[in-house]
Amino acid sequence: MRDLFGAELRWFQHIEETARRVFGRHGYGEIRTPILEELEVFKRSVGESSDIVNKEMYQFTDKGGREVVMRPENTAGVVRAAIQHKLLTSNDPVLFYYIGQQFRYERMQTGRYRQFWQIGAESFGVASPESEAESLLMLHSFLTELGLKSLVFSINSVGTPESRPAFHAAFRAFFAERADQFCEDCHRRIETNPLRVLDCKNERCQAALAGHPVITDHLDEASAQHHARLKALLAELGIPYVEDPRLVRGLDYYTRTAFEVLSSDLGAQSALLGGGRYDGLVKQLGGPEVPAFGWAIGLDRLAMVLQQVRGEAPHQAPALLIPLGDRAATEALKLARILWDAGVPLQLETRGGALKKAMAFANRAGIQTVLILGDGELEAGTVTVKHMATGEQETWALGEAAARLAPPTA
Ligand code: AMP
Repeated sequence: MRDLFGAELRWFQHIEETARRVFGRHGYGEIRTPILEELEVFKRSVGESSDIVNKEMYQFTDKGGREVVMRPENTAGVVRAAIQHKLLTSNDPVLFYYIGQQFRYERMQTGRYRQFWQIGAESFGVASPESEAESLLMLHSFLTELGLKSLVFSINSVGTPESRPAFHAAFRAFFAERADQFCEDCHRRIETNPLRVLDCKNERCQAALAGHPVITDHLDEASAQHHARLKALLAELGIPYVEDPRLVRGLDYYTRTAFEVLSSDLGAQSALLGGGRYDGLVKQLGGPEVPAFGWAIGLDRLAMVLQQVRGEAPHQAPALLIPLGDRAATEALKLARILWDAGVPLQLETRGGALKKAMAFANRAGIQTVLILGDGELEAGTVTVKHMATGEQETWALGEAAARLAPPTA
C-alpha cells in the first residue's frame, strides 16, 4: 500500500478528469460504493474458484461478528448497490462509472500493489452487441484522449452457462490425453472451472494447450451471432481488434464477450485492462434478470505508462509572490486575491523575512515565475517579475499581472 502525491498523483488526477469528461458525455453517471462489503458479495460473484476469492482477499470478522472484505474489485459492489436501491427494476438502461481503491493480498511486483485504484464502467439492461460497441468506443476515446496509441482490443466469447458444457466436454477430453503435462492447479481447475486452464500462467501448461479446442467453435447460435456482430461493429468503427481464444479473464461471472486492451506502449503483449459481459451476475446476487457489460482499468498502471510515454502530467506550476516588508505583506494578500480570483495558480510567501531565503525556496520548489513586491514597487504601482529559468527580470504594472499570468481559457 502506498501514498500518492506530487507528479504521480497529478497523473491520477488528469486521468480521473479525463474519465469524468469522456464518460459523462456518453451519459454514464458516477457511483461510489463502500470499501467494505460482506464476504458473500464476492463469493457469489467473483467466484470461489477464482484466485481473488481463494487467496487474495483482505477478509476479517468485524466487531459485530460479520464476515467482511475490503473490496478486491468494484463490479460486485456496484451490482449489490444497484439491486439494493432497486435501480434495475425497469427495462431502462442504467449506466454507471466508478473510480475507487481496491485491495488484494497479492505478490508485490512493479505495477502490482495490494492497494490499487480502478476506474470502471458498467452498463446494465442492454444485451446487444451495440451496447458493447458503445462501451468499447467510450473506452477507446478515453485512452486516446489520454495520449495512448497503438491500442489493440483482444476479444473472445466464452459463451453462456447453458452452451458451455459442450465446450467443457471437448476440452476435458483434450486435457485427459495430455493430463501429465499440466500443473496441479490445472488439475483442480479442469474439475471446478475448465476455462481457467486456458489462462494458467504456467509456461508448460500454455505449451501443452497447443491445438486445444476453441470455445468459439462450440457457441450456441445466438452467442455466435452476437460475437460476429460485435466484430463487424468494431471493424465499422475502425477499432483494431484481434481474437484470442485463450482469453477468459480471471473472474467467474463472464458470459459471451470477454476482452482486454493491449497497448504496445507497455511493452509486448501487456494488458492494460479487461472486462466483458456478465448477464448472470445481477440475478446471482439476488436481483432481477438483467444483462450487463463492463470493464475496469487499473489506474496505477495507467499512470505509470503515461508517465513513461508522456513524461510529466499536464500541470501549471504556481508562481510565487514574495512581499518585502510589513506594508507589502498586506498589499501582497490583496494582489494575490485578485490573481487567485482570475484563476492564476499562485503561492504566497507568508513567512516574511529575507528575499534570499524565499528565492532559495522558489528554486527548490521548481517555481518558474517569482513576483516581488517591495516598497519601491508599491510606490510605483508595479511588481518585479523574475523568470527563474533564464534569470531574466522585468517590471509589470500591478494592473496587468492578472492578465499576464492567467491560464489560457479553453
Ligand atoms: P481485474 O479486476 O483483475 O480484471 O483487473 C483489472 C485491471 O486492474 C488490471 O488490468 C490492472 O490494470 C488492474 N489491477 C489488478 N490488480 C492490480 C494490482 N494488484 N495492482 C495494480 N493494478 C491492478
